[in-house]
Amino acid sequence: MSETALLPAETDVLLVGAGIMSATLGTLLKTLVPSLQLTVVESQDRVAVESSDAWNNAGTGHAALCELNYTPEGKDGSISIDRAIKINEQFQHSRQFWAALVERGLISDPKQFINPVPHMSFVSGAESVEFLRKRYNAMQQCSLFQGMQFSDDPAVLKQWIPLMMEQRDPSEPVAATRAEFGTDLNFGALTRMLFGSLEQQGSQVVMRHRVTELTQLPDRRWYVEVEDLATGKRSRITSRFVFLGAGGGALPLLQKSGIPEGRGYGGFPVSGQWLRCTNRDVIERHAAKVYGKPALGAPPMSVPHLDTRVIDGKKELLFGPFAGFTTKFLKFGSFLDLPLSVGTGNLVSMLGAGAHNLDLTKYLVGQVMQSQEDRVNALREFVPTARGEDWVLEIAGQRVQIIKPDAKAGGRLEFGTEVIRSADGSLAALLGASPGASTAVSIMLELITRGTSVVPEEARTPAALQEFIPSYGRSMAKEPELLARVTEHTGRLLQLR
Ligand SMILES: Cc1cc2nc3c(=O)[nH]c(=O)nc-3n(C[C@H](O)[C@H](O)[C@H](O)COP(=O)(O)OP(=O)(O)OC[C@H]3O[C@@H](n4cnc5c(N)ncnc54)[C@H](O)[C@@H]3O)c2cc1C
Repeated sequence: MSETALLPAETDVLLVGAGIMSATLGTLLKTLVPSLQLTVVESQDRVAVESSDAWNNAGTGHAALCELNYTPEGKDGSISIDRAIKINEQFQHSRQFWAALVERGLISDPKQFINPVPHMSFVSGAESVEFLRKRYNAMQQCSLFQGMQFSDDPAVLKQWIPLMMEQRDPSEPVAATRAEFGTDLNFGALTRMLFGSLEQQGSQVVMRHRVTELTQLPDRRWYVEVEDLATGKRSRITSRFVFLGAGGGALPLLQKSGIPEGRGYGGFPVSGQWLRCTNRDVIERHAAKVYGKPALGAPPMSVPHLDTRVIDGKKELLFGPFAGFTTKFLKFGSFLDLPLSVGTGNLVSMLGAGAHNLDLTKYLVGQVMQSQEDRVNALREFVPTARGEDWVLEIAGQRVQIIKPDAKAGGRLEFGTEVIRSADGSLAALLGASPGASTAVSIMLELITRGTSVVPEEARTPAALQEFIPSYGRSMAKEPELLARVTEHTGRLLQLR
């Protein structure tokens, strides 16, 4: 990124924060309305250093191929795959958009950010094996998941996941599903590519500047105060549309904007940690993203997984995440973030959510108390031969879970993502972090189609969006021919075959 970009006095679109969400929205807006003037303001000296950095997230291209929490079991024992279908279709939007950018020459060398890595679910114990078999049978009814394999045969599992099967108790029933067509994503590399392309198209990416205040003018534009973190100087920029893509920093800014739609919202930070493998021999003996079952009371994003990564062309191996607690909303944030976010506007929601999530509190206390030995023992459920000296603890990114006002309970803790948008379409904020970056394209398309002050209606019709996302407004689950054509096309452009 250019180090010298200056803050203009006026812009059409102000993107606050240089992570994958702002990068995706900016790229979509520029694709739909090329004449828009975009300005990005980022408080760090590089883009994608918070949650979007490759080491700060797991890089799973979430397409519901391995995450057991997307296919809940009903009381009658049936498995619902509705959520899995929705997430898979959303990931297909991302794939198509990235492929279109490669096709149009706006980004190149997709291997820098997307690589094929099989997605697997792994369970042990007779009951869990039965669950996985039922889940597999239910998913096979949908064309999106055809090609996925199931096995409870140790000989087959040894071929799929030799590292995990070594010295495993032979009396323990185990099973796995495997989807060869899963992916690993380096969202940091993708973010840098997208901002690079936006800069080439004339957008300003202003680093080491922090947005501190926002006021709406009578003509609906936003008057935004920005602090230069190198000099302490404050300046102002006026924008027709503002997107608060500040990750954990979006909630305080939403509160400052004072839009009524943001009233009552709060945030609860959960930090993440990984064990990262440092032994090349071990790293080379595993080649999959393997998701297990979550522990009792664990939030959905804490499902344990052993994860092959491809970062800067090199294979890596992660296990985790382990949750932690800090009052910071960003990895490079302040311990005052949580206390300063609580006020009369959201106190009821915060207390209500606290009272109804005692299981989560218990789970977090247990996680925070863990020693390195406890973590390695958790890893041994996946890799029975794991040695503590081959793994180091790394701090991952910060997630701020949404606390929503709720008429009955006072407040509700949510684990998804939500876009809060002002009624006049002049400001929007993204809260929450799951399924996260994988579905960024769908999230931003929804924001654009709900209406913003900068995209005219004729530029956001289904036909306009289908120019670069052919499955937009259609169902690939119900149209196998579309699925086959689009998978072949995007797979070729993204070099996934
Ligand atoms: C442990 C963990 C694992 C995850 N695993 C996955 C996964 O496997 N797959 C997946 O799809 N997603 C995953 N996610 C989620 C994914 O990482 C996030 O959804 C995504 O990175 C969020 O991007 P963002 O642009 O909203 O935020 P960020 O990348 O955090 O960017 C926000 C930016 O805003 C800047 N900023 C903040 N405040 C201000 C301000 N006032 N002024 C200027 N700039 C500001 C910050 O410095 C930062 O650069 C994971 C997240 C975590 C934490």
